Amino acid sequence: MDLVMPYPDATQVDATPAMVAQGWNSTRMFQESDRFFTSMGLLPMPQEFWDKSMLEKPSDGRQVVCHASAWDFYNRKDFRIKQCTVVTMDDLITVHHEMGHVQYFLQYKDQPVSFRDGANPGFHEAIGDVLALSVSTPKHLQSIGLLDKVESNHGT
Ligand SMILES: [Zn+2]
Repeated sequence: MDLVMPYPDATQVDATPAMVAQGWNSTRMFQESDRFFTSMGLLPMPQEFWDKSMLEKPSDGRQVVCHASAWDFYNRKDFRIKQCTVVTMDDLITVHHEMGHVQYFLQYKDQPVSFRDGANPGFHEAIGDVLALSVSTPKHLQSIGLLDKVESNHGT
């Protein structure tokens, strides 16, 4: 990475310190993502999502697979995410990625079962990432209070 990194002198944007300082937790990260999706006219996560998802690593000794994943239970109302969320900017991006899967589930939930799938797997992987690209811009991070100042790279 140090050989190919473009603009090595540019300031790296990292919202993690501000998230930690402001006491963000996993629920707050998912709420913020939900807010961003719905602000663009997309569907909110249903109540079942909030009730049944596993947004944190269990602290009761249960062994879980921590790799984040999103699940469609094919009953048109039960959709969940399993993620051992850590309060970091990287995980905030992952939250949007996984919520992109659920958003796609929600958008095609009323189709016949054979059509309840991505047009191709790339679509599914891309939806949340498209939003995460906008969320990780300095301008947006500043608007949600996670970045003090936005530096301009004009003229460099
Ligand atoms: Zn994915």
